[in-house]
Amino acid sequence: MDKPSVFIIGAGPTGLTCAIELARRGIPVRIIEKKSEPEHISKAIGINPRSLTLLEASGVTPRLLTKGLKLNRMRMHYGDDKQIAIHLDKIPHKYNFLIALPQDETETILEERLNELGVKVERVAELDDLIETGQGYEALIKSQWGSETIRNSLIIGADGAHSMTRKQINVDFEGIAIEEPWYLADVHIDWPYQQNGHDAQAFFQQDGTVGLTFPLGGTRYRLLSNREEVFGFLPKPYSIEDSLWESQFKLSCRLAQTFQKANVFLAGDAAHIHTPVGGRGMNLGIEDACVLADYIDAGKTDRYTTDRRPAARHVINMTTKFYNLMTTQSPMKIWARNHFMLPLLKFSAVQKQQLKMISGL
Ligand SMILES: Cc1cc2nc3c(=O)[nH]c(=O)nc-3n(C[C@H](O)[C@H](O)[C@H](O)COP(=O)(O)OP(=O)(O)OC[C@H]3O[C@@H](n4cnc5c(N)ncnc54)[C@H](O)[C@@H]3O)c2cc1C
Repeated sequence: MDKPSVFIIGAGPTGLTCAIELARRGIPVRIIEKKSEPEHISKAIGINPRSLTLLEASGVTPRLLTKGLKLNRMRMHYGDDKQIAIHLDKIPHKYNFLIALPQDETETILEERLNELGVKVERVAELDDLIETGQGYEALIKSQWGSETIRNSLIIGADGAHSMTRKQINVDFEGIAIEEPWYLADVHIDWPYQQNGHDAQAFFQQDGTVGLTFPLGGTRYRLLSNREEVFGFLPKPYSIEDSLWESQFKLSCRLAQTFQKANVFLAGDAAHIHTPVGGRGMNLGIEDACVLADYIDAGKTDRYTTDRRPAARHVINMTTKFYNLMTTQSPMKIWARNHFMLPLLKFSAVQKQQLKMISGL
């Protein structure tokens, strides 16, 4: 049987992974990206054991392991100086850690591997329209070289949360927007908690705000908080040596009504978005990409929505529950969190449940 041609829209982590997985199987693939060059911002910083396992076959995993930092624990500080940890090193897998690596560096590794497989990202090229023909969809592409119509191809929309692909095929993106803004900073910092080495940390405050820190190597950290003074939750004394990137963003939790319509597929943020709790956003996109490439190769694409949509819904439900627990402003719920829920992490069954969510296994 002839292999189908595949056309991917969007060269974020999902699109790049999908292109690699198809190219290494000998499936003809093109990938377009509207931006003229890669963005140098860190965005997603945690790569989980499931992604590391999936990216082994393409040879990407060893490069991520070399470049990234191994996170062994997630420490949570709450109440009056109490703390408890999720022990990532108890994940029952050879990758019993998360790899911390800024997303732009992950994308560089993916794009280099794709180039080695003979595929180049076609930049300054974007989806302009998807036209229904009665036998599926054709894609109209506008690029620096003019217009082109893509026919007789499988089309993958890996074009992010505001996916034009999804809008063009009229697929609803059901869910909720979270009103409160979040703040982010990538900084070089000198502070006492440096002694905790390669631990991610969460600082739960009594007023329902929370701050998170993730080490990115040396004195570089990612800070994330739902309070505007993003440094405000850091235990004193600390000194910010250098601020590399500061940003504000709003969160939504949404799931596409279907991940496939005729010959068009949705993957990554185009299909699902949720809070950054558990660090699953980029990882879920990498999973979609690997599973979809596998199904295309096996001629079983009808399984894609039935397989991936429930997986994404499960992650959205789990991460939303934990997000609500983290950010509750109800004094009663804060009391219950500090005196009952967080201490439950002492029990191995509860640890196992959290590790399953974080690892993606
Ligand atoms: C500030 C910020 C912080 C984040 N932090 C985390 C985190 O800590 N942990 C986590 O898991 N996730 C985090 N995320 C989310 C994570 O970055 C996304 O889940 C991930 O990037 C999704 O990858 P993707 O490839 O599906 O989509 P994207 O990364 O959005 O890539 C889509 C690509 O498609 C291109 N594109 C769009 N439209 C078109 C078109 N019409 N034609 C051609 N190309 C197009 C875009 O330019 C883009 O390059 C963060 C996101 C942001 C914005």
